[in-house]
Amino acid sequence: MKCPKCDSEIKAENINIQSDIAQCVTCNTVFKISEYIDTTSDDHFNINDKPKGTWVKTNFNTTIIGATTRSPIAFFLVPFMLVWSGGSLGGIYGTQIASGEFDLFQFLFGIPFLIGSIVFWSFALMAIWGKVEVTLDNRGGKVFTGIGNIGINKSFLWTGISKIKEVQTNFRYPGSRGSSLVFEGKKRISFGSGLKEERRYFLLRAIRNTMNKYK
Ligand SMILES: [Zn+2]
Repeated sequence: MKCPKCDSEIKAENINIQSDIAQCVTCNTVFKISEYIDTTSDDHFNINDKPKGTWVKTNFNTTIIGATTRSPIAFFLVPFMLVWSGGSLGGIYGTQIASGEFDLFQFLFGIPFLIGSIVFWSFALMAIWGKVEVTLDNRGGKVFTGIGNIGINKSFLWTGISKIKEVQTNFRYPGSRGSSLVFEGKKRISFGSGLKEERRYFLLRAIRNTMNKYK
């Protein structure tokens, strides 16, 4: 166990699990253990017992834990988006292109539809080909959310992260499931809200399990 403030090792005699308090003798910080250390034990977890749509790859000193964001909502989103963005963008920009006449008002009017199309198409494509992949090693890791190699990477070091947990999300969008995973510590990284519950729960446990190995 390490001090959340100065990162130096805390001796067993300065840790009191019963009262949930530990003290760092180096910098004199007293802190609640539960706020910084993940004490959730998960003895029945088997990392090889993977639900469909999840994977774990272990290399020499790296573990990759991932899950697909594939979702039946794609069957609704794709036809809806074809009609919606096809109709709005085709009507606004298509007519201008066809007639060869630029109309400033029409051009500006179409911008929210253009932005909306990009945002909703990214949800639709995530529901077909998207994935969430967490790469962990003994220094820290990264969280990737996207399609193939295109997406967002969020990196962290173990010095900035003390635990992982599941939280309710208040931001809802097509394809989200009401919860997300959060790496917490000095830094906060939220991800996985597009994952099916069974896959998200596996990721949570697999990451927690792997964290104990590397951290
Ligand atoms: Zn300290």
